Amino acid sequence: MKILVPVKRVIDYNVKVRVKADQSGVELANVKMAMNPFDEIAVEQALRIKEAGQADEVVLVSVGPTQSQETIRTGLAMGADRGIHIEAAHETEPLAVAKLLKAVIEREEPGLVLCGKQAIDDDSNQTGQMLSALLGWSQATFASGVELAGDKAKIIREVDGGLEHITVSMPTVVSVDLRLNEPRYASLPNIMKAKKKPIDSVSVEELGVDITSRLQVLKVEEPEARAAGIKVGSVNELVEKLKNEAKVI
Ligand code: AMP
Repeated sequence: MKILVPVKRVIDYNVKVRVKADQSGVELANVKMAMNPFDEIAVEQALRIKEAGQADEVVLVSVGPTQSQETIRTGLAMGADRGIHIEAAHETEPLAVAKLLKAVIEREEPGLVLCGKQAIDDDSNQTGQMLSALLGWSQATFASGVELAGDKAKIIREVDGGLEHITVSMPTVVSVDLRLNEPRYASLPNIMKAKKKPIDSVSVEELGVDITSRLQVLKVEEPEARAAGIKVGSVNELVEKLKNEAKVI
């Protein structure tokens, strides 16, 4: 079985994001970029499934500018087998990405798609769900446990009230949550090996997908600066302030 992992190039999570002067988006020039952290978790899980003998290939797909190939390389250095790069602008919205992924999936025929629960740049949390709907496959979102058993996948989901255990039929789309695993670091020999692993480039036209934006960004603003907090000396003082100043109890 083949596992397909969509990986997105996003602003590194350690970077303080700045809004562009014209408020049309966020500044990307000379900003450190990295693989979306949830996608690293998805790659790690795919590798663990392969290492357990339940899959024979892990294929990474990234939709984005040429530099997205670096993101694919990061995953290849972790241990994935090959990559597919779909050249597109940075702002490709979830529906367009889902359609492009569907076109690749129809060619590659994986048994499992493991994606991140959300990309930390747009925070959409939509691509996996849209992809499963377009494919007519089952889906399991916010996975903190993934276990394959024949043509079924047993998933533990993180939901508001706790953990939900579900079983879905394969092929399936699973979006992974933070506590699923701790992604490995790439070792130097694996970074060297990754340089020789293949990355195919496919154009949007070749896949025959219309990626015209259906969303319009009106304005991007910095969040309002928050007033500094205060330290209280005792529980009694805290309760007094909550009662008489904040008036929340
Ligand atoms: P989102 O719906 O944008 O929050 O993204 C959810 C997940 O979809 C991400 O964690 C990735 O696994 C995948 N994804 C979104 N955008 C892309 C992209 N441009 N290229 C590859 N995968 C993507």
